[in-house]
Amino acid sequence: MLNIVIFGAPGSGKGTQSERIVEKFGINHISTGDVLRAEIKNGTELGKTAKGYIDQGQLLPDELIIDILASTLDSFQDSKGVIFDGFPRTIAQAEALKKMLAERGQEVSVMLDLDVPEDELMTRLIKRGQESGRADDNEETIKKRLVVYQSQTAPLIDWYKNEGKYQHIHGVGTMDGIFAEIVAAVEKL
Ligand code: AMP
Repeated sequence: MLNIVIFGAPGSGKGTQSERIVEKFGINHISTGDVLRAEIKNGTELGKTAKGYIDQGQLLPDELIIDILASTLDSFQDSKGVIFDGFPRTIAQAEALKKMLAERGQEVSVMLDLDVPEDELMTRLIKRGQESGRADDNEETIKKRLVVYQSQTAPLIDWYKNEGKYQHIHGVGTMDGIFAEIVAAVEKL
């Protein structure tokens, strides 16, 4: 089983690199952000709740997102592994993931930290907002998301170092170059 946590600030390229990892290693993909955007689009109760948090650049409550993650995980049959994209984002979520995988006789294989400087993140996200129209990719919300990342999510770097799962990836460069570094890190596992 290959269970990869792809980690990084908003705009670090998690989604883009996840697609390539899925293609190369044939594992399942869970993007909690994509799940929530689909719920919003479908007008569900969960979507309505999620929208309030996403528009404010805030994280959803841990219990809610952990439940979503667990049911998505259970929906995979004969899986070769999973790439977790946008989850975990807090220490409580990382602990829940560890427990959830342990209950299935599994563990996180590696945490890939896509490291990108803040000014570059800002530029990328503003551009993405103009191109994709994602509602939370506007300057005000981006700033809030980066603050939330620093205060609630970045502490996971030390948490995964402690677990012996941390792998730094240079998140700036060509998409191919970044992907090559990821592949090398996964293949040496
Ligand atoms: P993303 O597409 O991963 O950037 O996520 C977009 C938004 O969805 C975030 O800014 C949060 O509001 C919410 N979200 C996604 N994943 C999580 C998570 N693991 N925990 C809490 N909120 C999340």
